[in-house]
Amino acid sequence: RKQQLLQLKELPTETLDGHSVSLLANVGSLNEISHLADIGAEGVGLFRTEFMLMNASTLPQEKAQYQFYCDALHLMQGRPLTIRTLDLGADKEIPCLTPGDELNPALGFRGIRYTLAHPEILTVQLRAILRAANHGPIRLMFPMLNQVEELDMVFELIEQCKRSLNQEEKGFGALSYGIVVETPAAVINLASMLPKLDFISIGTNDLTQYAMAADRTNPDLTRQYPSLSPAILTLIKMSIDSAKRQQVTVSVCGELASDPVVAPLLIGMGVDELSINLSALLEVKSVIRATNYSKCIEIAAQSIKKTRIEELNRYISGLI
Ligand code: PEP
Ligand code: MG
Repeated sequence: RKQQLLQLKELPTETLDGHSVSLLANVGSLNEISHLADIGAEGVGLFRTEFMLMNASTLPQEKAQYQFYCDALHLMQGRPLTIRTLDLGADKEIPCLTPGDELNPALGFRGIRYTLAHPEILTVQLRAILRAANHGPIRLMFPMLNQVEELDMVFELIEQCKRSLNQEEKGFGALSYGIVVETPAAVINLASMLPKLDFISIGTNDLTQYAMAADRTNPDLTRQYPSLSPAILTLIKMSIDSAKRQQVTVSVCGELASDPVVAPLLIGMGVDELSINLSALLEVKSVIRATNYSKCIEIAAQSIKKTRIEELNRYISGLI
């Protein structure tokens, strides 16, 4: 089976009737990026940069971060690299930079909330990324961003970084910008944010956690935290409909995108890109290549009508 799948790596990701989608990879290290070509991933759709801090004793300086992103771009060989700014807090514990004691860390000071409150952390990362963008295509996205004011603050910081880089005569490149859509508020507020964005990436892991009010790390809540549910489908559909109205690219980077059974449904709903764990990428490609786009649309239309979690999951798993 593995050998069979490997034969797909050079083939295009398209349905039997010729509808193309991009298959990108979720990565957390340079080592994972170095394996992209082995499986024919078209790029990185989510680079979890907080992983670089797992074993660090302090936040790396701008020079070290710049070198790190340049090394990543070198391994990408011209393919697009989607970097997520540091997503600290809640389930992502980074020893050298833990936001602190909170009663409800998942509802607390995490993601872009934390880094906007610590511009000395975000500025270093933004400057390093802007400079690295001189050497290859980078897409930048922000985690846990709910509200257009937060986006304004991020872009203001980016403008400041560009001004100071100019003054210091340090080169930088152009970036594409997106947000990780991972809270219900972000879905609801998309219309006001999309004019400032090139893409959105739906983070179904946290979007499910916040939509269902169920802790993603609590093993007692697996029934209350289903990976596929009518609620999450409705939120995905709302996001896609808003993004399409403003011609913004839609990616899905949560675990849901790595489930081969769910890929035709997401494609039928209008997703342009799936960002997937390396180990699942070729399996998802094989399913897409064996499906008709017209069937994907039918699956999406049927799925969105299901009101019960169990009924929806039975329908989707019965398709293969
Ligand atoms: C998500 O929340 O769906 C996501 C892709 O990011 P993470 O799992 O790193 O929070
Ligand atoms: Mg997340």
